[in-house]
Amino acid sequence: MSSHQAAPRHAVRRRFGFRSCQLPTGALVFVLAVDTLALGLLTASVLHTSVPSGEQLLLAALLTLAPVGHTELSLNAERTRRRVARSHHVNMTSVWTFSGALLLPPALAAAVVVAVYTHLYLRVARAAGTPAHRHVFSAATVVLAVFAVDAVRLAAQVLPPPGAGHGDATVVLGSLLAYCAVNTLLVTGAVRLARPGTRFLSVLLGAEFLLELATLSLGGLVAVIIDNTSPWLVLLAVLPLLVLEQTTVVRQLENQVDTDTKTGLLNPAAWRWRTQRMIEHCVRNGRETAVLLLDLDHFKTVNDRHGHLAGDDVLQAVAAVLTDEVREKDLAGRFGGEEFVVALGGLRPDDVASGRAREVAERIRRSVRALEVDTATAGRVGGLSVSVGVATSREHGAELDALLAAADDALYDAKRGGRDQVRVHHPEPAGPGNRPFGLHFGTSGI
Ligand code: GH3
Ligand code: MG
Ligand code: MG
Repeated sequence: MSSHQAAPRHAVRRRFGFRSCQLPTGALVFVLAVDTLALGLLTASVLHTSVPSGEQLLLAALLTLAPVGHTELSLNAERTRRRVARSHHVNMTSVWTFSGALLLPPALAAAVVVAVYTHLYLRVARAAGTPAHRHVFSAATVVLAVFAVDAVRLAAQVLPPPGAGHGDATVVLGSLLAYCAVNTLLVTGAVRLARPGTRFLSVLLGAEFLLELATLSLGGLVAVIIDNTSPWLVLLAVLPLLVLEQTTVVRQLENQVDTDTKTGLLNPAAWRWRTQRMIEHCVRNGRETAVLLLDLDHFKTVNDRHGHLAGDDVLQAVAAVLTDEVREKDLAGRFGGEEFVVALGGLRPDDVASGRAREVAERIRRSVRALEVDTATAGRVGGLSVSVGVATSREHGAELDALLAAADDALYDAKRGGRDQVRVHHPEPAGPGNRPFGLHFGTSGI
C-alpha cells in the first residue's frame, strides 16, 4: 500500500513557526543531522580561528550589509517569490555568502551566513510563512557549503593546480562546484525524504537550479573583483541582483498562472495549450498521443464523510499519484472538481497498439485504489477509486477536442460499468449493420 503524506494545513506550535513534527521520520533525522553538523563545524572553527584582521572584519561587514540592503530593497519581490515558489526557493544571497566563502576565513564566512539568514528570516521568510525549521535547515546547508569551499581552498594549497596563472581560476570554479553540489544535494535529499517521489533530475534541470548557478557565478566574479581592487566594489553587484530578482519574480508568476493552486498540476487552460503543442509535435514526428480523463468515484461521499478539507488532501494525493505514474514529458492537469486529465505524448504506433496508454491508466487506477491519505483533519482516508476513459490519436485523429470527447464517452462508460475501471474508446469499424460513426467501447488493449 502506498501512503501519501498530504500537505500540512495547520501549524503545530505556529507561534514558533515550528512544524518539524509533521516531517516524516527519515526527513526529520536528516534535517537534524545537517543542522547539528553545521553547528558543530561552526563552533569548532570559531574556537580554532585566530582573531580576524581589520580588513577581514570590514569585508565581513560589507558582505553582511550588502545582502541586508539588497533584501530591504526587494522585500516585495522576495516575499512574492517565496510564496509562489513551486520547488525549493533559491534566495539570491548566495552572491554574498559565496564571495565570503572565497575571501574570508571559514568561521567569519559562516558568521556572515548566520547574520544574513537571521535577517532574511525576520524580514522575508517569516512574513511569507516559511517554517522556522526549514529556514534553519537552509542556513545550515549554506554553512556546510562554506566549509566545502574551505576544503577546496585547502586542497589547492596542498596540491597546487597545474599551469601557472590558472590557480585562482581553478579554485574559484572548484569552489563554485563544491558549494553548489553540497547545497543542491542536501536540499534535494531533504525534499525527497519529505516528499518521496520527487525527481532529482527535475530539480537539476529546473529553472531554480539555473538561478542558483547564475547567482553563484556572480558571487565568484564579485570575489575576484574585490580580491583585485577594493571591498567597496561589492556594491556594484546590488543593481544587477535587483534586476535579476524582478525578472525571476515575473517568471515564477507566469508559472503560477499555469498551475492549479490546490494540486500543483496544470490548470485546464495551460493543459489544453500544452497538449495542443504536444499533439502538433507528435504529428510532425510520426508519433501518437493518448488522452486519459479521470474522475474520482463517489467523491461526494468522501467529502460528506470526512469533510472538504480532507477531500482536498485526497485531491492532492491523487495529483501526486498522477505525477509519479507518468513521465516527465507527459502532461497532467486538473480539469476541475475531482476530474483530472493526462496527455501521454510521443507514443510509437506500436506502443499504442500494445495498449501503452491502457497500461498507464491501469497503473494510475491501481495506485489510487491503494492510496491511504494521511489527512490533516480526518486521519487516514482510504477506500478510494477512480474511473478512467482513454482515447488515442491513432484512432480518433490529432484533434484535441475529438480526443477529449472520446475519452469522456469512455469515462462515462467506465462509470456505467461499475466504476474503478479503465475503458478505452474504439471507433466501431464501419460495416453492414453498423452506424457510420457508431462508437464501441473495448476493454481489451488498444
Ligand atoms: P461519481 O462516482 O459519479 O463521479 O460520483 P461523485 O460523487 O464523485 O460525483 P459528483 O460529480 O456528484 O461529485 C463531485 C464532488 O466533488 C462534489 C463536490 O463536492 C466535490 N468537489 C469538487 N471540487 C472539489 C474540491 O476542490 N475539493 C473538495 N473537497 N471537493 C470537491
Ligand atoms: Mg465529476
Ligand atoms: Mg466523481
